[in-house]
Amino acid sequence: MRQQSYSSIQQQLTTGSLSCRELVASFLARIEATRASNWFVEVYAEEAMNRADLIDQKIRSGKAGKLAGMVIGVKDVIAHSDHGLQAASRILEGFQSQVTATALHRLLEQDVIVIGRQNCDEFAMGSSNEYSAFGPSANPIDPGRVPGGSSGASAAAVAAGCCHASLGSDTGGSVRQPASFCGVVGMKPTYGRISRWGLIAYASSFDQIGPIAHSIEDVELLLACMSGPDGRDHSMPPDQPEYLRAEPIDRPLRIGLLRESMTSKGLQPAIKHRMESFVRELRSQGHTVTEYAFPLLDAMVPCYYILTTAEASSNLNRFDGVHYGRRAESVQNLHDVYQLSRTEGFGTEVQKRIMLGSFVLSEGYVDAYFTHAQKVRRKITDETMTMFDSCDVLMSPTAPTVPFRQGEKVDDPVTMYLSDIYTVHANLVGAPAISIPFGMDEDGLPFGLQIMGKPWDDSMLLTISRKIQSAVSR
Ligand code: GLN
Repeated sequence: MRQQSYSSIQQQLTTGSLSCRELVASFLARIEATRASNWFVEVYAEEAMNRADLIDQKIRSGKAGKLAGMVIGVKDVIAHSDHGLQAASRILEGFQSQVTATALHRLLEQDVIVIGRQNCDEFAMGSSNEYSAFGPSANPIDPGRVPGGSSGASAAAVAAGCCHASLGSDTGGSVRQPASFCGVVGMKPTYGRISRWGLIAYASSFDQIGPIAHSIEDVELLLACMSGPDGRDHSMPPDQPEYLRAEPIDRPLRIGLLRESMTSKGLQPAIKHRMESFVRELRSQGHTVTEYAFPLLDAMVPCYYILTTAEASSNLNRFDGVHYGRRAESVQNLHDVYQLSRTEGFGTEVQKRIMLGSFVLSEGYVDAYFTHAQKVRRKITDETMTMFDSCDVLMSPTAPTVPFRQGEKVDDPVTMYLSDIYTVHANLVGAPAISIPFGMDEDGLPFGLQIMGKPWDDSMLLTISRKIQSAVSR
């Protein structure tokens, strides 16, 4: 029962052959048994049991919402009223949220059950879940390896059967890369599809909440319930196209491939070979796979890190020891309050990024770095949109490697940052992208396939992904 998707048990719940109480009890037992993996920073055992009873009643009286009995975990950057919220940082120690993020609120309205708050990299900055005030969390397949990041624990918890789905956030790959490392499905919707209200901001022009689950169907159910303007995220277009399920596609697909993504130095041979044989397979099934030259691939990670650190340095100003969370003790004056609270409160990776961000925005350097990176972002976007004139989706590995060992990359930031080489593209251009399980290397470690669609074509992307997935599992 545990590692099943929600869609596959939904009918049992509606007919009463399975109760929410039984489900929650079994997930709680699983969470208990996997405590050492450090996926949950808080478990809402009693609350989840009570809610299960309430929803069982609603099901019996025919008044249950669309996601009745779906059990989810929430990454520690998404606000949930009267629950702790810490962004895995010491600076927010003891902080309780007074509001619920729009995305979560909409799911609660459809009767999901929240089972706990999940570990992540501090302020969602990282690719391995090793930069957390709560300590690292383990990969579900091999505990000596990382689950990916920053929503690593959220993906691992789903893979290990601790919940049906998780809500993560994706600024440069944080939903998709952990999904790839843990063998589950993760999606970053179009920028602006889901309100960012109630999500702790990292880089506001990149951030997006995204679902992680066992199947594309579950991801779609979650997305459909969360999407749409709420009047609170002012970067969402007010005339946002409504989320509608796309029609099935009966014609062969037109799939694009960035040539440089296949020749990239860090790409692990097992993943490369799998991609090559899959391309042959797709062609033999009658689909078109076109290679596009895209020399800008190498510019994406630097461009991403200049822009996101700039935005982060400004977003994280609010954590000053006065407004929220932890304040340094025995300080002499206001300046010390700021300086000491931030020095003690932020971990090294976050401090590094704030400094880098302040540097790229500083007088004398802003044009050389920040403004220049914005121009590069525009160029990447324009060239990507041109490719979408002749293809339905772009396909690539989700990450260049399978999950790496704990500690392997913490002292080598450049290699760590390069794990995002394929994922930052979607955030730079605001496009929707999904990672689906694609295979395993010779050691049985998983890797994912990334499929990226045109902005606002989220539903079409999911329809195409289902089609591609059936080719993967042939
Ligand atoms: N690994 C990337 C970073 O550290 C992505 C993080 C994210 O998507 N939140 O910025």
